[in-house]
Amino acid sequence: MSVEIVHASDRGAHAVNITIDDGPDPTWTPQVLQVLRDNGVKATFCMVGPQAEAHPGLVRQVVAAGHRLCDHTVSHDTAMDKKPEAYQSQQIIDAERQITKASGGVRPMYYRAPGGAFTPYSRKLAASHGMRPLGWNVDSKDFERPGSAAIISTVEGELTNGPTILFHDAGGDRSQTVEALHTLLPWLKQQGYAFGFPVR
Ligand SMILES: [Zn+2]
Repeated sequence: MSVEIVHASDRGAHAVNITIDDGPDPTWTPQVLQVLRDNGVKATFCMVGPQAEAHPGLVRQVVAAGHRLCDHTVSHDTAMDKKPEAYQSQQIIDAERQITKASGGVRPMYYRAPGGAFTPYSRKLAASHGMRPLGWNVDSKDFERPGSAAIISTVEGELTNGPTILFHDAGGDRSQTVEALHTLLPWLKQQGYAFGFPVR
């Protein structure tokens, strides 16, 4: 398992990796799952440990639908790279345990630091637990709720940056994200993109 932050897709050069962060959330995760299902798309869900623990049924739905799990820590602390190694370890390992328990034993295959706050230590720790450090190339900026049209044009415009696209299914009203995915997934397919998972 490499400690390098991955962006590439296992489906090759003309593919994208859809990644969905900060959930699971009882309102938005089911809607995201529905639009993924409608388009036959598999994605990677970067989950926050306590939310996985609170909503194990959603975690199991994500796994049952063929999506992959990613450890997105316990507290979503975007300054965790400035904190002691013991803290980083607790954030990563406790969330791994919470997500794995909620899923019924399916382990997260990736680790994404909140806000990209990776350290050499955290990358190595995650990799030693079988979790490939996962970055992104295209930030859809859906978190800021700029409107679904803006989310769509950001993704379309920045796709040349690379294959891994960041969306969110929690942390506030994510109806714009769901709306944008309804348009973007068929558009990506029309452009000839395959949908893959990040390389491990
Ligand atoms: Zn996040």
